[in-house]
Amino acid sequence: MKEAAFYDKLEEKAVQCRLCSHFCRIKPGRKGICRVRENREGTLVSLVYGRVIAENVDPIEKKPIFHLKPGSLSYSIAAVGCNLKCRFCQNSQIAHSLSDSSHHDSRGLTPGRDMEPRDIVDQALAAGCASISYTYTEPTVFFELARDTARQARQEGLLNIFVTNGFMGEEAVDEAASFLDAANVDLKAFRNEFYEKYCGARLEPVQKNLIRMKKAGILVEVTTLLIPGLNDDGEELKALAGFIAEDLGTDTPWHISRFHPCYQMVDRGATPVTSLEKACNIGKKAGLDYVYMGNVPGSEYEHTCCPQCGSILVERRGYRIRNLLAPDGSCRTCGALSGIRN
Ligand code: SF4
Repeated sequence: MKEAAFYDKLEEKAVQCRLCSHFCRIKPGRKGICRVRENREGTLVSLVYGRVIAENVDPIEKKPIFHLKPGSLSYSIAAVGCNLKCRFCQNSQIAHSLSDSSHHDSRGLTPGRDMEPRDIVDQALAAGCASISYTYTEPTVFFELARDTARQARQEGLLNIFVTNGFMGEEAVDEAASFLDAANVDLKAFRNEFYEKYCGARLEPVQKNLIRMKKAGILVEVTTLLIPGLNDDGEELKALAGFIAEDLGTDTPWHISRFHPCYQMVDRGATPVTSLEKACNIGKKAGLDYVYMGNVPGSEYEHTCCPQCGSILVERRGYRIRNLLAPDGSCRTCGALSGIRN
């Protein structure tokens, strides 16, 4: 249990949380939308500090992060909870399983294993990882654990990565910039209606936070899960790709990922590969240098190619990686800088 960051005390022991763009006003004894921040007698506490529900040693490409240390390992952790309610959630068992009645175990603890920041850093070092990823659920709602871990990780030479929906509050983005090296941010669609109907959120804060992260110097990669009939309209994708190119820069990687039916969205099939190819072409036409296709092993869009001469810079076959970059991240064929932190 830890006192939460980013909140205001209001009258009659109510509080307002500013960690994410829901800005929940919470009465004593109640929790916010994420279910993992609770008002205890006028003090907002994080219920997930030091309670890790998932930990794995993953290839960094699995996050996906393609432009930081290609081919390295990332120690990946999560705590329970999420601030969004995506009907197509791929980690619903740990993100959305909480309710008031099922929240705690018999000892009154939040589900998970006791792990303090030092334990997480030690595990990452022992596993030979180059980074720690805060992932699977939403790192925003376990911000205090991620922040304290990331600060210690930096001192040990480890990099820090958020895999996030980007629906944070601005102050959280600014503080995250002091310890984050990279973020893969979901840009789930380019219509507010989609965010409201299928995710219980809004588009605008995500757009603003993407720009804020990029300006703060965080390496930003964008992911869009392409869902048949929901966000695969050509005009919408053109607008989304245009936003990435103009507001974040043409060097920003865009991962277009294949949907498979899951959780509360089983009324449609997997995304046809032709739709993914169409979306990749839209990204290229918008001027993006790095467009990737996700969840389609063997696709030519898995590789990183030099935008100048077309040579393969990083060859990927699933998680088999051949890093062909020069040590400084430039192309060995033409010498152009890729912007990849090697
Ligand atoms: S993190 Fe977001 S959802 Fe959770 S209490 Fe704070 S404002 Fe509400």
